[in-house]
Amino acid sequence: MRHCCQFKADDIYYLKETNLYVKRTLSIGFCPICQKPVAELVEIRFDGAFNRDYQFGIKANDLAMKYKDDIVYSMKECNYQKLKSKPFGWRYGVNKSVKINGKEKIKQYACDFYGNKELIKTA
Ligand SMILES: [Zn+2]
Repeated sequence: MRHCCQFKADDIYYLKETNLYVKRTLSIGFCPICQKPVAELVEIRFDGAFNRDYQFGIKANDLAMKYKDDIVYSMKECNYQKLKSKPFGWRYGVNKSVKINGKEKIKQYACDFYGNKELIKTA
Protein backbone atom coordinates (compact mmCIF):
# COMPACT_ATOMS: atom_id res chain seq x y z
CA MET A 1 0.00 0.00 0.00
CA ARG A 2 1.13 3.54 -0.45
CA HIS A 3 0.71 6.88 1.25
CA CYS A 4 3.75 8.85 2.50
CA CYS A 5 5.77 5.73 1.81
CA GLN A 6 5.23 2.14 0.67
CA PHE A 7 4.01 -0.10 3.48
CA LYS A 8 2.44 -3.47 4.13
CA ALA A 9 -1.31 -3.86 4.56
CA ASP A 10 -2.38 -4.60 8.09
CA ASP A 11 -5.14 -6.84 6.84
CA ILE A 12 -6.65 -7.84 3.53
CA TYR A 13 -10.33 -8.58 3.21
CA TYR A 14 -11.52 -10.89 0.50
CA LEU A 15 -14.86 -9.74 -0.84
CA LYS A 16 -17.56 -11.84 -2.42
CA GLU A 17 -17.71 -11.78 -6.19
CA THR A 18 -20.48 -9.97 -8.00
CA ASN A 19 -21.87 -10.35 -11.51
CA LEU A 20 -19.53 -7.60 -12.64
CA TYR A 21 -16.45 -7.97 -10.47
CA VAL A 22 -14.19 -10.80 -9.36
CA LYS A 23 -10.98 -11.13 -7.32
CA ARG A 24 -12.12 -8.35 -5.08
CA THR A 25 -9.88 -7.40 -2.19
CA LEU A 26 -9.98 -4.58 0.26
CA SER A 27 -6.64 -3.78 1.92
CA ILE A 28 -6.53 -1.83 5.15
CA GLY A 29 -3.41 -0.34 6.67
CA PHE A 30 -1.97 2.55 8.60
CA CYS A 31 0.65 4.82 7.10
CA PRO A 32 3.73 4.40 9.31
CA ILE A 33 4.71 8.05 8.79
CA CYS A 34 1.50 10.02 9.29
CA GLN A 35 -0.52 7.23 11.00
CA LYS A 36 -3.51 7.83 8.73
CA PRO A 37 -5.69 4.84 7.91
CA VAL A 38 -5.48 3.82 4.27
CA ALA A 39 -7.95 1.61 2.42
CA GLU A 40 -7.59 0.27 -1.06
CA LEU A 41 -10.15 -1.68 -3.03
CA VAL A 42 -8.98 -3.66 -6.04
CA GLU A 43 -11.33 -5.67 -8.21
CA ILE A 44 -11.28 -7.06 -11.71
CA ARG A 45 -14.21 -6.40 -14.01
CA PHE A 46 -15.64 -9.20 -16.13
CA ASP A 47 -13.88 -7.78 -19.21
CA GLY A 48 -10.50 -7.86 -17.45
CA ALA A 49 -10.24 -4.18 -16.54
CA PHE A 50 -8.98 -3.26 -13.08
CA ASN A 51 -11.05 -1.13 -10.81
CA ARG A 52 -9.25 0.58 -7.94
CA ASP A 53 -10.53 2.77 -5.19
CA TYR A 54 -8.02 4.32 -2.85
CA GLN A 55 -8.79 6.48 0.17
CA PHE A 56 -7.06 7.63 3.32
CA GLY A 57 -8.08 9.26 6.57
CA ILE A 58 -11.80 9.38 7.34
CA LYS A 59 -12.61 8.42 3.76
CA ALA A 60 -10.69 5.18 4.19
CA ASN A 61 -13.14 4.32 6.92
CA ASP A 62 -16.07 5.19 4.64
CA LEU A 63 -14.62 2.96 1.94
CA ALA A 64 -14.21 0.05 4.34
CA MET A 65 -17.75 0.51 5.67
CA LYS A 66 -19.13 0.56 2.15
CA TYR A 67 -17.79 -2.92 1.49
CA LYS A 68 -18.02 -4.50 4.91
CA ASP A 69 -21.11 -6.54 4.04
CA ASP A 70 -19.23 -8.08 1.11
CA ILE A 71 -16.40 -9.44 3.24
CA VAL A 72 -16.13 -13.20 3.06
CA TYR A 73 -12.99 -13.57 5.13
CA SER A 74 -9.86 -11.70 6.03
CA MET A 75 -6.21 -12.60 5.73
CA LYS A 76 -5.78 -12.34 9.50
CA GLU A 77 -8.75 -14.55 10.13
CA CYS A 78 -7.29 -16.96 7.63
CA ASN A 79 -3.91 -17.09 9.37
CA TYR A 80 -5.71 -17.65 12.61
CA GLN A 81 -7.76 -20.45 11.11
CA LYS A 82 -4.61 -22.15 9.89
CA LEU A 83 -3.86 -23.02 13.49
CA LYS A 84 -7.15 -24.81 13.76
CA SER A 85 -7.90 -28.04 12.01
CA LYS A 86 -11.18 -27.15 10.32
CA PRO A 87 -11.10 -26.27 6.64
CA PHE A 88 -11.58 -22.61 6.01
CA GLY A 89 -12.33 -20.44 2.98
CA TRP A 90 -12.29 -22.18 -0.34
CA ARG A 91 -13.01 -25.89 0.11
CA TYR A 92 -12.73 -28.87 -2.12
CA GLY A 93 -13.76 -32.46 -1.64
CA VAL A 94 -11.59 -35.55 -1.44
CA ASN A 95 -12.86 -39.10 -1.33
CA LYS A 96 -10.75 -41.78 0.29
CA SER A 97 -11.42 -45.46 0.14
CA VAL A 98 -10.73 -47.35 3.36
CA LYS A 99 -11.36 -50.93 4.51
CA ILE A 100 -13.27 -51.30 7.74
CA ASN A 101 -13.82 -54.89 8.93
CA GLY A 102 -13.10 -56.14 5.43
CA LYS A 103 -15.71 -53.83 3.87
CA GLU A 104 -14.76 -51.01 1.63
CA LYS A 105 -15.97 -47.61 2.77
CA ILE A 106 -15.61 -44.22 1.19
CA LYS A 107 -14.61 -41.43 3.48
CA GLN A 108 -15.40 -37.96 2.25
CA TYR A 109 -13.25 -35.11 3.39
CA ALA A 110 -13.56 -31.38 2.90
CA CYS A 111 -10.14 -29.83 2.38
CA ASP A 112 -8.87 -26.32 2.12
CA PHE A 113 -5.76 -24.77 0.62
CA TYR A 114 -4.07 -24.52 4.00
CA GLY A 115 -3.76 -28.25 4.60
CA ASN A 116 -6.77 -28.57 6.88
CA LYS A 117 -9.29 -31.32 6.38
CA GLU A 118 -12.46 -32.48 7.97
CA LEU A 119 -14.30 -35.77 7.66
CA ILE A 120 -17.76 -35.00 6.27
CA LYS A 121 -19.20 -38.47 5.97
CA THR A 122 -18.41 -42.13 5.62
CA ALA A 123 -20.45 -44.00 3.05
ZN1 LIG B 1 1.03 9.04 5.27
